[in-house]
Amino acid sequence: MSAASPAPWRNWARNQYAQPSRMIRPSSTAEVAEIVAEARAAGTTVKPLGAGHSFTGIAATDGAQLRLDGMSTVRWHDPESGRVRVQAGISLHALGPQLRALGLALPNMGDVDPQSVAGAISTGTHGTGARARGIAHAVVGLQLVTGAGEVVEIDEAHPWFDAARVSLGALGVITEVTLQCVPAFALHAVEQPMRLPEVLEGLAGFLGDDHFEFYWFPHTESALVKRNNRVAQGTPLRPVARIRHLWDDEILSNGVFGAVNAVGAAVPAWIPRINRISGSALSPREYVDHSHDVFVSPRRVRFVESEWAVPRDALPDVIAELQRWFAASGERVAFPIEVRFAAADDIWLSTGYARENAYVAVHQWFRRPHERYFAAAQAIFDAHEGRPHWGKLHTLTADRLRERYARFDDFRAIREATDPDRVFDNPYLRQVLG
Ligand SMILES: Cc1cc2nc3c(=O)[nH]c(=O)nc-3n(C[C@H](O)[C@H](O)[C@H](O)COP(=O)(O)OP(=O)(O)OC[C@H]3O[C@@H](n4cnc5c(N)ncnc54)[C@H](O)[C@@H]3O)c2cc1C
Repeated sequence: MSAASPAPWRNWARNQYAQPSRMIRPSSTAEVAEIVAEARAAGTTVKPLGAGHSFTGIAATDGAQLRLDGMSTVRWHDPESGRVRVQAGISLHALGPQLRALGLALPNMGDVDPQSVAGAISTGTHGTGARARGIAHAVVGLQLVTGAGEVVEIDEAHPWFDAARVSLGALGVITEVTLQCVPAFALHAVEQPMRLPEVLEGLAGFLGDDHFEFYWFPHTESALVKRNNRVAQGTPLRPVARIRHLWDDEILSNGVFGAVNAVGAAVPAWIPRINRISGSALSPREYVDHSHDVFVSPRRVRFVESEWAVPRDALPDVIAELQRWFAASGERVAFPIEVRFAAADDIWLSTGYARENAYVAVHQWFRRPHERYFAAAQAIFDAHEGRPHWGKLHTLTADRLRERYARFDDFRAIREATDPDRVFDNPYLRQVLG
């Protein structure tokens, strides 16, 4: 274990800062248990950190920051069941190729992969797909160090299981995770520009895709549709040609988009025209590649984000209300709005708990103010019984969140059992859990 007086910490988006009292890199579950027990005895706090990819202050601490990047190996895998046991600090980026080498994959992923497995599941990180669920749904067991420094194995039969898979870092330090993987698969990706009204009219059909999402360019009717469907095992791969990848993903999506945001920040009045040009510059593309490489894209333009799960049927109203707000407010936003889908699940604090959702994400370039835009969007999502992503900006507090989650108080009761002295507390948890 190594411990140090750390430099100030900041998250990926550069909107959360903290000064931890110590930064510790444990290398075993026993060391984590020792650190937690010591903190409890001293009346101080501990906060495990993943990749710092949350936009909220969920990972911020002025206590001891635990970095689990030294606990990042694959412990075992069972070829029969497809289950894989990993140390919780492993990143999705490192896990992907190791799963592929075992002939396995995660059933679904979000759109980037630097997150740690523990960080991703703790906030309910999800991808898209009307029949698909978040990454935490693949968890079939985990090892938790509680606030008393006890090591507890939680399997599907354990009474804490449905609370522990999406636990906001509030129940303890997750040190190992067992994931139910699926046989490695490839996806046929089709990306095409469309008019927003056509996308909304065709929604029922698109939701038949394995993984469907779309991006809508504010102030326009332009949208980019992404449809990813599984292909039969053995289908030859047809990855994006290197030059096309460089042009689309590196130059257009990241390089030019960075410049677009800089220009838009300097002259916001130009944004509607820029968005129209961006929308019409999109061209269709099609490829077949390993699932991990299709799900994940480079994200080099820094931004802040707020994303909410709303009941699927509410989506057309939500979009219409956002359109009206853009028209009435004069706010100019260059970042496309991302819309994704997921099936209902049974995880108490998952945004997907017992509800089929559409996910609507609003973004703003990190150097532009986002507060007015996100507050207006939040008011729209909130009025539709929206559930905010735990890792993305929102200002809901416990009273409101209790109305959105039937098992909210059951979660709090388990927290009382696992962390009665609030060793894992921080301001964000006080906001959302009370
Ligand atoms: C560019 C970008 C793209 C994104 N894309 C998506 C997306 O497609 N879909 C989506 O749903 N989200 C997305 N997110 C959000 C992101 O997936 C979540 O915020 C995720 O939690 C970040 O993981 P992390 O490892 O960085 O965790 P952190 O942000 O470091 O921590 C998140 C929480 O997990 C806790 N935690 C970390 N490790 C442990 C542990 N070992 N035990 C217990 N608790 C722990 C932390 O204490 C904290 O409470 C994106 C974020 C960014 C910046």
